[in-house]
Amino acid sequence: MSQDNPYGPATGIIHNRHHRDSFGSPYSPVYNTTTYQFENTEALLDVIEARAPGHLYTRWGTNPSIEELEQGLARLENAESALAFASGMAAISATLLAHGRKGIVCVGDLYGGTQELLVNHCQALGIPVRFLFKEEVGQLANTLDEPGKLVYFETPANPNLAILDVAAIARTAHQHGALVAVDNTFASPINQQPLELGADLVLHSATKYLGGHSDLTAGALMTTAELAAAVVPWRKNLGQLLAPETAALLSRSLRTLPVRIRQHNENAMAVAQAMENHPKVRRVLYPGLPGFADHELAARQMKGFGGMVTIEVDGNRAASTAVADNLRLFLLATSLGGVESLVSQPCATSHHGLSQEERLKRGITDGMLRLSIGLEDGKDLIEDLNQALDKAFG
Ligand code: PLP
Repeated sequence: MSQDNPYGPATGIIHNRHHRDSFGSPYSPVYNTTTYQFENTEALLDVIEARAPGHLYTRWGTNPSIEELEQGLARLENAESALAFASGMAAISATLLAHGRKGIVCVGDLYGGTQELLVNHCQALGIPVRFLFKEEVGQLANTLDEPGKLVYFETPANPNLAILDVAAIARTAHQHGALVAVDNTFASPINQQPLELGADLVLHSATKYLGGHSDLTAGALMTTAELAAAVVPWRKNLGQLLAPETAALLSRSLRTLPVRIRQHNENAMAVAQAMENHPKVRRVLYPGLPGFADHELAARQMKGFGGMVTIEVDGNRAASTAVADNLRLFLLATSLGGVESLVSQPCATSHHGLSQEERLKRGITDGMLRLSIGLEDGKDLIEDLNQALDKAFG
């Protein structure tokens, strides 16, 4: 499915330029337009009736700034095609509606918004939805009782960073005529390429690592031209396109994605190792640590272990709250993937709506803190965590 592309991801994305600017700007201008003018009706009809390439109306997905972004997004996941959206949820909902109508089988933990979409909306539309815990993945084949279903999962998953075997799930799904969609937000395309491992559709909340600066909301789908074509009318008619200005801002961000991810990986590993040795930290969940339950699988299917680290402090909810509230550099905020480090307490944010019993079933304890490790100096982040732990337990 890959693009014919001789370059590595950094070279490829920096040179993803499609419009030669007459003033010599190295990057394309932003096409802030909703519509396009034609010479005459015949030329307009040629575009509407697909006899000639051209742009008609931006919401349809035809805008040079958005198309250039999509070529960059496809390149990053080595995909034939990519579609850009106004948010990660827009990308996920259009994909589920286009490819999941015969039934969706989810494996492992999902982002809360996706869970809500599946439970409150997909089921209300009559789409059968099944949820399997990670430990139940062996039952996947039994749930795929007719062809045309969609298997959906995240790896690493939130907040335990549990890893699912993309290649093994794809083999089972394909044997039963199902497609496989992977939300690759936590890993980023630099650390993991699910299409290479056998997945059919890859989704991103581009609001996170792809955007990388906590200043834009966007989403992406990377897949084959054929599977993307089936999603285009949903995006168009649900009105899910992103603004050209946001597309240009995201294209700008993508140029630094490879170097940002390298630093996220390095900082996260340093923080994880330091926290592993801290007497007031009971557990550190990070796929790069040799002691992490899914480390071998992560090492096999990932090129880097990512910027997300979850720690469990040696105490109750009050103790983890005290650590979060005493951090100075880590901002107390949801989301992830920006240049600045963030801390969030899963029991107070992403999993706040679940009972403690439901949380424990998913391995989420009150002592947990999810850290989105940013691009500050690693030693400063470790010192900040140490001082907050000292204050909380002092
Ligand atoms: N997928 C994952 C893994 C997420 O963490 C999020 C948001 O936090 C989303 C999807 C939804 O993305 P957005 O907020 O851009 O709609």
